[in-house]
Amino acid sequence: MWIGVPRESAAGETRVAVTPETAKKLKAAGHRVCVQRGAGERAACPDAAYEAVGAELVDAATALGAELVLKVQRPDVPELAQMKSGAVLVGMLNPFDAAGLQTMAQAGLTAFALEAAPRTTRAQSMDVLSSQANIAGYKAVMLAATHYPKLFPMMMTAAGTIKAARVVILGVGVAGLQAIATAKRLGAVIEASDVRPAVKEQVESLGAKFIEVPYETDEEREAAQGVGGYAKPMPPSWLARQATEVAKRVAQADIVISTALIPGRPAPTLVSEAMVQSMKPGSVIVDIAAGRGPGGVGGNCPLTVADQTVVTAGGVTIIGETNLPATVAADSSALYARNVLDFLKLVINKEAGFEMPADDDIVTACLMAQGGEVKRK
Ligand code: NAD
Repeated sequence: MWIGVPRESAAGETRVAVTPETAKKLKAAGHRVCVQRGAGERAACPDAAYEAVGAELVDAATALGAELVLKVQRPDVPELAQMKSGAVLVGMLNPFDAAGLQTMAQAGLTAFALEAAPRTTRAQSMDVLSSQANIAGYKAVMLAATHYPKLFPMMMTAAGTIKAARVVILGVGVAGLQAIATAKRLGAVIEASDVRPAVKEQVESLGAKFIEVPYETDEEREAAQGVGGYAKPMPPSWLARQATEVAKRVAQADIVISTALIPGRPAPTLVSEAMVQSMKPGSVIVDIAAGRGPGGVGGNCPLTVADQTVVTAGGVTIIGETNLPATVAADSSALYARNVLDFLKLVINKEAGFEMPADDDIVTACLMAQGGEVKRK
């Protein structure tokens, strides 16, 4: 198959959907791999490395005009205009953006959004949400440590003792777990909150403390089970008790890393303005939900500004980086490219090219558009 790998055009996007490692495997499987010049340069994948494994270096039109186009982010309008009707597109296409899906359907694409893959064992090797969230969790702690004017570990020195940083993690999915593990390695004291009770054991196994908020009604217990492993919105009664518990910890915290998300919904507000005011000068909040709060504004904290670092009058730094994986582009791309390659094994082969399997839950879940229509399940 003629496979195209365009250079990502979205602002701040540094990742690439195919690395020399996966280009080599696609070539070995009998495909023609056309990589736009410079596509991987921001991810430490120079053009020469693609050439060395037999990929062709091409212009944007050739990469976008391929039978199968592999992207990180959804193509924008100028990119869509260069793609061929009937082409197959694989990327992180934002399954919850109905208008975006419509534009891909109208362009005649067969489009697969990898974020929509089920969180099952078989889909694990193509789980882009996990591969990228893991990196986001790590980088959030690194950013916090860089902006925090103190140290993370306790230090007993001849000049006196330095206390360990207190870190609060809100939302303990893939990003939150990695944030706990990373902060722990740096010597912090960590507490974490999540709506899902299953998380408690994972938090404790990483050496952090789980912030207990008991469930008092059947409605609360039912909501806490979530759906498909994901969180559901919790009843206001539980959220109010959680806010009380979280507020106590946030007031004592040096660092807050918030990662709480609910698929297809605005991110819950967990760090209120009043809580930020209660924090000590020099404290840092890294809001991984930046840009995903109500109305696309804020994040888990209403004071978060997407893609900006702001310092409040009280001296609290709030970091609203919306694309943390792009700040670790080489490893993010390496993992993403392997996710893409594993997905491709389900839908392409040397003889027939693209072939939609008759009954495959992963492929069906990822299919967003085909034959001019939005197909999202
Ligand atoms: P996510 O990014 O959708 O959300 C992050 C976290 O925020 C979740 O843990 C969620 O419960 C939490 N959250 C939501 N509302 C909250 C609130 N009000 N207060 C506190 N926390 C709140 O989550 P994710 O990292 O994509 O993980 C989602 C699920 O998928 C998890 O159950 C995870 O274990 C599971 N998972 C399964 C596999 C697999 O089996 N293949 C792989 C990866 C993840």
